[in-house]
Amino acid sequence: MTIDWNLIDTVLLDMDGTLLDRHFDDHFWLEHVPSAWSRKHRVPLHEAKPMLYDMFRSQERTLNWTDLDYWSDRLGLDIPLLKVEVDHLIAVHPGVIEFLTFLRQSGKETWLVTNAHSKTLDLKMRKTRITGYFNGIISAHDLGLPKEETAFWGKLREKIPYNPERTILGEDSETNLGTARAYGIRYLVYVSRFSSSITPEPSKEYHSIHYFTELLPPVAQASLNKTITP
Ligand SMILES: [Mg+2]
Repeated sequence: MTIDWNLIDTVLLDMDGTLLDRHFDDHFWLEHVPSAWSRKHRVPLHEAKPMLYDMFRSQERTLNWTDLDYWSDRLGLDIPLLKVEVDHLIAVHPGVIEFLTFLRQSGKETWLVTNAHSKTLDLKMRKTRITGYFNGIISAHDLGLPKEETAFWGKLREKIPYNPERTILGEDSETNLGTARAYGIRYLVYVSRFSSSITPEPSKEYHSIHYFTELLPPVAQASLNKTITP
C-alpha cells in the first residue's frame, strides 16, 4: 500500500507491540510475574503458570487487562516494581523514530493511543523518551473504555477532534483495527512484527507491515537508505 500522505491529517498509534517491542510485555506477563507469584505463594512454577494465564485471559478485552493496580491487588504483588526489574527489555522497534520524525516534519497530528495504564505509560516514556514526537498521549483508562469497543473511537473524538476519513491507525491488534474500521477510520495498518522474538505473519484483513519505514513516501525512504549506506 502506498499512502498518499496528502489525504491524511491525523495519525493514531498504539504503543505496545506497535511502537515498542512486545517482547517486554510477553516476557513480563508470561514469565516474570508467574515466577514472582510462585515464589511468594510457594506454588511450583509449572502449576502457577496455567493458573495465572487463565486469570489473565478472564480479563481480556477489558480495562482490567492493563490495570496494574487491579493485578497488584489480585495477585498480591507489586506489579509496577516488578516491571522496573525487567525494564531493560523495553525497546522501540526499528524504524519508529524515523517514522515519527517524518510525521513531525510533515505536520501531521500524531497521537499515542493506548490501553496502557498510566503507571506503564510513565515507565515506558521514561525509558524510551519518545513523548516529544506526539501532540499528546491518550490512555483508554482516561476514556473509561478499551479500544476493543467500537464506541472507544467515538469517545476519542471528544479529546481529539479527528476526521476518521483522513486518519490512519497503526496497531498490532486486529481486534482493535476491527473496531476502528467499524467506527469508520479509513486507513488501517497492522504491525505484524510486534515482537522481536516472533516470526511475523501478515494479517488476512489489513495491510501489514514489519517496520513503519515501509509507510514513508519513496523520497523519504531513499534519503533514509542514503544515510544508512553512504
Ligand atoms: Mg498493542
